[in-house]
Amino acid sequence: MKTAEMCFAYIIPEQRSYSNESCKALSCGCPGYDVCPFYKGTAKYIADRASANARLRSLPAAKQSRIAAVYYHGEMPWRYEDEIQ
Ligand code: SF4
Repeated sequence: MKTAEMCFAYIIPEQRSYSNESCKALSCGCPGYDVCPFYKGTAKYIADRASANARLRSLPAAKQSRIAAVYYHGEMPWRYEDEIQ
């Protein structure tokens, strides 16, 4: 169920770039959370991301390295998620 909680991808007007896009996930103008199928509240986004990072940390080192090389330019941000806001 959708709520009025701010979407994790919404960019407030004061922080928008010259393009004035309001969605950093889709690079577009936000049509409103009630009509967007990609809406996710910030709290759920943080919880889902923590869960995904825990899953990545549980993988064998070789598999983590492969994922890092293919998707994260060699970085493993899931290893130090507490340091990232
Ligand atoms: S377009 Fe969708 S994903 Fe992007 S900020 Fe709006 S509700 Fe969130």
